[in-house]
Amino acid sequence: MCTLLRKLGFVRGLRFRLTLTNSVFLIGLLVAMGFFFRGILSRILDNQVRDVLNEEWGAVKGYLVIHKRKPDWRYDREDEEEAFIVQRLQRVFLLADAKGSIITSSQLYDDFGVISREEIVKALASREPFWLLRTASDGEQFQIRGGAFVDDNDQTYFVAIGRTLGYNATTLNQFTKDYFLLLPLLILSGSLLGWFVAVRALRPVNELAQTAERITGANLNLRIPPRHSGDELDNLISTFNKMVERLENSFIMTRQFNTDVSHELRTPLTAIRGQLEVALFTATRAEQYREAMINALEDVDRLSQTVKAMLLLSQAESGQLALQRSSLDFSAVVEDIVDQFQIPAEAAELHLSCDLPGPARIEADRVQIERMISNLLSNAVKYTPKGGSVTARVRANGSTVVFEVEDTGVGISPSHLPHIFDRLYRVPGASKEVQGLGLGLSFVAWIVKAHGGSIDVDSHPGAGTRFTITLPVTPSPATAAAPPLLEPAPAPSAPAAQS
Ligand code: ADP
Repeated sequence: MCTLLRKLGFVRGLRFRLTLTNSVFLIGLLVAMGFFFRGILSRILDNQVRDVLNEEWGAVKGYLVIHKRKPDWRYDREDEEEAFIVQRLQRVFLLADAKGSIITSSQLYDDFGVISREEIVKALASREPFWLLRTASDGEQFQIRGGAFVDDNDQTYFVAIGRTLGYNATTLNQFTKDYFLLLPLLILSGSLLGWFVAVRALRPVNELAQTAERITGANLNLRIPPRHSGDELDNLISTFNKMVERLENSFIMTRQFNTDVSHELRTPLTAIRGQLEVALFTATRAEQYREAMINALEDVDRLSQTVKAMLLLSQAESGQLALQRSSLDFSAVVEDIVDQFQIPAEAAELHLSCDLPGPARIEADRVQIERMISNLLSNAVKYTPKGGSVTARVRANGSTVVFEVEDTGVGISPSHLPHIFDRLYRVPGASKEVQGLGLGLSFVAWIVKAHGGSIDVDSHPGAGTRFTITLPVTPSPATAAAPPLLEPAPAPSAPAAQS
């Protein structure tokens, strides 16, 4: 049973099927070629017989004289060669008058049947050589050549001579026998070559399958070495390697995310625990308990904001978060949030200002817009060292509103710039001392996209960063039809989530 299954598996294998297709094609091709060449050979042999018959027709004219409606062969009887030629001409020979009446015919001619009167008359009228195939009683085939013969008295007769095609048949049979004897050898070597090529061509595919089988979460660094042949398989290998690379990156990011999340959750949890323990073991007065409770509550708030940010992003990315659009004054929202950030900016010894053109109304989700502005301002404040400045600008351009947040902070190097909107991506080094999960910009990107806008970053390490967001004033039909909320969005007054 096992062997049978294995056998079936082998039969279903690509190598076998490729070889089989190749062999079937080869058999078809070789058989067709055999018949084709046999046809050509047969035509060449037939033409040779016709050429000989045309020559013999000339000899008939030289040796034959018709005297009183009787054939009289005039040749040198002493000359063996001439005698032989005439004898051969007489072997298949027919003489008829212009009306088609047979005057004389050789014994062989009688054997395969003389020509009808109508045929003779027709042949004489056409003035063209008359060709005919006849089969003797023993199966031997003859090529007949007939035509008009005019004697010395200008009398027209019909003469036909013939030659056996037996030699042609023997040659053709020999060719067929030899060719079809050679055929299995040709097919076998062609099939072996096909098998060899299929095995070689599919080897990388097997390697690919084996590597894919070995890949687990623990060894995602496995790659298939490229063959540098530039063919489709190389393309497949490179696509596969790129896919594993993406998987590896995503695994690394998920691992990093787990570490960051645990860290992010553990810090406030430890603080809460510490505050509660202090209250439990050392507090004696009601104010001490109250203070510990307030501190613990602040940390619980931080904790819940982190969890909320992660939950919201995952809802947003899985399409569960729909926009609740309303008409709002974008400038006023920016002004409000800039005001909220004045205290942290002052604490960080930064100059925070805004440049607003007056009311700029847009149709947007207030909560998400507040979150977007907060995230950008929060980053600008986080990544700008003491003494720097942060500016928020709004420009109304008719159908769009442009929002800019510019800082004189640490900047982002060009190699990291393409990744900053990736979920969980944090620029190594630069963001080490600064708390964050690498979710803020992913959120900003989602909010901008959901509103049908675009985002652009211009950054120079050590000099600063400028984020430019362009939002349409009214939603386009595609972005307006957002899916319904599976979970209610936070109330408009809720603080914007920070990463
Ligand atoms: P995080 O929680 O780390 O701030 P974000 O998604 O908001 O995550 O930002 C991703 C990374 O982009 C940050 O870790 C930081 O390195 C970089 N970044 C974002 N904004 C700025 C900025 N204004 N200046 C310099 N670097 C920035």
